[in-house]
Amino acid sequence: MWIDTHCHLDAPEFGADHALAFSLRELAAARGVGRCVIPAVARSNFETVRLLAQRLGDAYAVGIHPLCVPGASEDDLAALDAALTEHRDDPRLVAVGEIGLDFFVPELCTSEMRERQDFFYRAQLRLARKHGLPVIVHVRRSADKLLKHLRELPVGGIAHAFNGSEQQAQAFIDLGFKLGFGGASTFEPARQLRRLAAELPLSALVMETDSPDIPPQWLYVTAAERAAGRVQGINSPAELPRIGAEVAALRGVPVDELMRASTANAWAALPRLKALT
Ligand SMILES: [Zn+2]
Repeated sequence: MWIDTHCHLDAPEFGADHALAFSLRELAAARGVGRCVIPAVARSNFETVRLLAQRLGDAYAVGIHPLCVPGASEDDLAALDAALTEHRDDPRLVAVGEIGLDFFVPELCTSEMRERQDFFYRAQLRLARKHGLPVIVHVRRSADKLLKHLRELPVGGIAHAFNGSEQQAQAFIDLGFKLGFGGASTFEPARQLRRLAAELPLSALVMETDSPDIPPQWLYVTAAERAAGRVQGINSPAELPRIGAEVAALRGVPVDELMRASTANAWAALPRLKALT
């Protein structure tokens, strides 16, 4: 089976009452996706992802996303600590996430916002250590800083939608991390990313869709096509097996081999996932 290690099935794109999430999750299951991990992004959806994971038979993570840091307060860190304590015996709670640093979005790059991101990221690394959970990190133009904090506050996990250099990939691997690959690696112009997907040790890879974001090439519609009325297909865990087939082809290995290895890697990065299976 495949594991989608990162999908935001509670996103509004999946409809009121998550109706579309249920039908697409069923389609994903029919295509061999055995488990999904639904990360939270802010205090306001900690409960949503927990309940949704329960209803779908999937797993979840709770954390404050760097893009949500501007709207977050220290109270939210206390709420995160409380949620991690309250649900500590919930086998579906597999990580602290989605946390991290984003130095791509201009509003998050002021010196004040960088400091604030550092503060929330470090506080959440401490909570992950306190509760004995791995982390799911968002890395965008921030790998070196993320790694620096991880060396000071070591904890394992997944660097999701990884898109850094080979050296940065190796640094994450040295810290015991797995690297998440998804739809971005299906685009031919993404040469460096495709080379990483092809050449990194198989033991370092996990698969993800980041749905509804990061659509694979076959769902992507350009701005011009959108203007002409073409609708972009919705990215969902149902796309994961086809993304996996592309990555397997890049590596020149049978799809089954990539599936088995990436699933074992996901279990290694998120040990509670395995117990859930
Ligand atoms: Zn995400």
